[in-house]
Amino acid sequence: MTPQRLSVLDIVAARPGHIGADEVWNRAREQHPYVDLATIYRTLQLLKRVGVVTEVVIGNKLHFELADNHNRHNHMVCSECETVQTLSPGYLEEFSRRLQQEFGFTPDLDNITIGGVCSICQPPG
Ligand SMILES: [Zn+2]
Ligand SMILES: [Zn+2]
Repeated sequence: MTPQRLSVLDIVAARPGHIGADEVWNRAREQHPYVDLATIYRTLQLLKRVGVVTEVVIGNKLHFELADNHNRHNHMVCSECETVQTLSPGYLEEFSRRLQQEFGFTPDLDNITIGGVCSICQPPG
């Protein structure tokens, strides 16, 4: 790992929850003023390929977080305010079981992101 890769990983690791690629870039530039966004994207994709970080699409932006097998979760993303809420995998277990029972299909639900509207953005009533 090059120092630049390490610092990108440090930035993602230091941030609880999800961090946007542009925010990673802003932090990385504090240490490496000449690093460009394309390099940050490349590094993040590489870290994703080796399984160290996972990618979440929020709105039209990519966010990243540290891959943590002990903290597996899915995401609910509000289309209005783009807030991300995490969902424990238990919520999808029943769904997964039914797909297997009824279709013999083993779903890969790890990367599922559920879009919708959060409680704050719902119209009252
Ligand atoms: Zn997450
Ligand atoms: Zn919302």
